[in-house]
Amino acid sequence: AQAPMFADLAGDISVSFEFFPPKTEKMEEQLWQAITQLEPLSPSFVSVTYGAGGSTRERTHATVSRIVRETSLVPAAHLTCVAASKGEIDEIADQYWEAGVRSIVALRGDPQGTDARFAPHPDGYASAADLVAGLSARHAFDISVAAYPEVHPEATSASADLDNLKRKLDAGANRAITQFFFSPEAYFRFLDKALAAGISAPILPGIMPVTSFAAIRRMSANTEIPSWMEAMFEGLDDRPGPRALVAAVVAADLCRRLYEGGVRDFHFYTLNRAEQAYATCHLLGLRPKETAA
Ligand code: FAD
Repeated sequence: AQAPMFADLAGDISVSFEFFPPKTEKMEEQLWQAITQLEPLSPSFVSVTYGAGGSTRERTHATVSRIVRETSLVPAAHLTCVAASKGEIDEIADQYWEAGVRSIVALRGDPQGTDARFAPHPDGYASAADLVAGLSARHAFDISVAAYPEVHPEATSASADLDNLKRKLDAGANRAITQFFFSPEAYFRFLDKALAAGISAPILPGIMPVTSFAAIRRMSANTEIPSWMEAMFEGLDDRPGPRALVAAVVAADLCRRLYEGGVRDFHFYTLNRAEQAYATCHLLGLRPKETAA
């Protein structure tokens, strides 16, 4: 009998997971359940997102610190340029460095108001490239930056956006992580263009589970949502159980196609839940490390 398609995948992959800082005790509990379940997959790093307001900054710091204290994981702290002077951002970077945090995901960030455009703080970093330059001058951080296979919505052109990615890498970033996408072709075309533009750093695909089709549609400014996907999630809005199973199949199939195209590094947007990311890693052949008896 023929084996299922996933049976050929050898698990020779490396993965990373993104989390967001919890707002309540209940969310904190959920996050830590997810971290505990995903830790045995030995991710190369786990990243923690960062919001613009003061309290969300504190939460990022608290989450990263707890990861340092309580796990063997390598945390990567997201940091943005929004609403802070260079001095304030440098101070946060110093605190991370002193706490033993060596990895930063450096982003420009978005303004807090919904459709406001980003305006740099008068004494702040003006772009992610600027932030990367500032961080690398300060400490020997390992730095990741954002990449957009389907082009950042504010970019004047695809090639200007690629130039910007190159500037970020030239300024000292070590790798890029992509915005989520649903078409493997979009990702592979982007890799080809990046290579042609002289970019040799790894560009990790960011894998987003479809927890709500409406939310995905709302968040997908430039991201193509294949027409089959709409049909796939039709009628599942009020059926969370089946929707999660379908979403897991869709994410795993995307990863299978990426794997078959040669991808071995995967970054998962976990939304603080372990199941989907774990199942996808499992289908790709990844198994937890044996723990010493
Ligand atoms: P930049 O690289 O600075 O680019 C922003 C725009 O400006 C692009 O259109 C670029 O082409 C253009 N640009 C920059 N410099 C120039 C120039 N010199 N000339 C012409 N054009 C230029 N947001 C958060 O608030 N917190 C997070 O934790 C967070 N994590 C993220 C993680 C990932 C993996 C990704 C993909 C995004 C994340 N974001 C996060 C969202 C991100 O902040 C937004 O997408 C933001 O709009 C752009 O950030 P950037 O770092 O890509 O900016």
